Amino acid sequence: MFLIFGIRSKDKIVGSRLGRCEVCGATAAQTLVRRTTKFSLFFVPLFPVRAARHFVTCTNCGRSRAAAREELVAA
Ligand SMILES: [Zn+2]
Repeated sequence: MFLIFGIRSKDKIVGSRLGRCEVCGATAAQTLVRRTTKFSLFFVPLFPVRAARHFVTCTNCGRSRAAAREELVAA
């Protein structure tokens, strides 16, 4: 008998707004992404193993950074 288990992260876009990127300086759409990490058994995600994290991704340069708490409220 064998078990196939592991952890898997999944990203979900939860919002987008126009803003100035801190990396490239361009005014472009900034996408808010929520990343969840879950324990999976036989490729079926069962329960989260860490708290959800939020990132802001620039659509111009593609760089991501951790979202500030104020950005989560605005989204
Ligand atoms: Zn950028």
